[in-house]
Amino acid sequence: MIYFDNASTTKVYPEVAEIITKYNVEKFFNPSSLYLPAINVKKDLLNAKEEIKKCLGANQQSQIIFLSSATEANNLALFGLCKKGKKILVSQGEHASVFNTANELLNLGFDVDFIKIKSDGKLDIDDLKSKINNDVGLISFMNVSNETGAINNIKEISNLIKTISPETIIHCDGVQAFCKIYPDLKNTNVDAYTISSHKIHGPKGVGALWLKPNLKPKPQIWGGGQENGLRSGTENTAGIMGFVTAAKKMFENMKNNYIYIENLRKNFIELLKIKCNDWEINGSADENLPHILSISFKGIKGETLLHMLEEKEIFVSTGSACNSKHIGNRVLQSMGKLKTQMEGNIRISFSETNTLKETEIVVEEISKCVHKLRELNY
Ligand code: PLP
Repeated sequence: MIYFDNASTTKVYPEVAEIITKYNVEKFFNPSSLYLPAINVKKDLLNAKEEIKKCLGANQQSQIIFLSSATEANNLALFGLCKKGKKILVSQGEHASVFNTANELLNLGFDVDFIKIKSDGKLDIDDLKSKINNDVGLISFMNVSNETGAINNIKEISNLIKTISPETIIHCDGVQAFCKIYPDLKNTNVDAYTISSHKIHGPKGVGALWLKPNLKPKPQIWGGGQENGLRSGTENTAGIMGFVTAAKKMFENMKNNYIYIENLRKNFIELLKIKCNDWEINGSADENLPHILSISFKGIKGETLLHMLEEKEIFVSTGSACNSKHIGNRVLQSMGKLKTQMEGNIRISFSETNTLKETEIVVEEISKCVHKLRELNY
């Protein structure tokens, strides 16, 4: 099997699987209980928050709220931080967990507007400038696009926003960026940042929302007051400890992984240039995460290609897995891509566990399939 769909989810590291078992079997105590083994688990959770802050380059005084997914973190950020009577701005390139939440707020009567993205997948700064003012209470844009890997410079953009409107709260979805590039949050004007465990070899069902000190979103789940009252429910201790174990390993190897994956991508593109014609990369030429490669092949259907590759036990995606039931691709559409470019799209996403040999095999198989489909005029 060759797995090239790491932006969708990743395989859990063996040491992560071990930690999960440990916290389910030996250290299974409820962190809110009052006896020593439970208090020790509580301490482990607090230490886990400090470790995650290090990976984010965040101040110690800032907050980490653990919850069930990045989707929940994005919901808490948008629902919990929007202000009555103030406008909400959201980029058109967002993942469904932000985009659909913004649409729900719109349905509920909030004043929501969408910021354009450019043909390279990055935020359209001119459109942002034309829409940002003191009436905007909350803005949400992503650090790295899950569709194309296009990187938004969160330092520059957050500085720009606060210069124009100092009171606007800035939320960034950092799911595809976390432990792949360094957000250095303490040197940005970002107020809230979302991350997810299962994109970095941690378990599914764990996410976190980082918040600046003193920023208190309105809770969306009420109960026993865990996570400083911001997210009730007994903590998923095993999942959280698995998440932080994965994050520490990814963070330690971040630079090396980046260089390694950059090389995989380069190799993939160079081979594809030799083997196949009439295709183009969707994304930014200057600021793009190497881990994500979105390609449109002329005259074929990406989904057909995906299933032909599946027969060879090669797994890729046609874009965000959360979008797979939708017709067309909302993000590529926002980038101004034609219907044929959207239809002919596949997303390859690498991890450091992939090899150069795998890129050679996949390019070879893709080329064969594309030629076959074109011959059949499929
Ligand atoms: N945001 C982005 C950019 C994503 O890529 C994803 C998952 O694909 C999510 C949010 C949702 O993450 P989760 O599966 O943890 O809810």
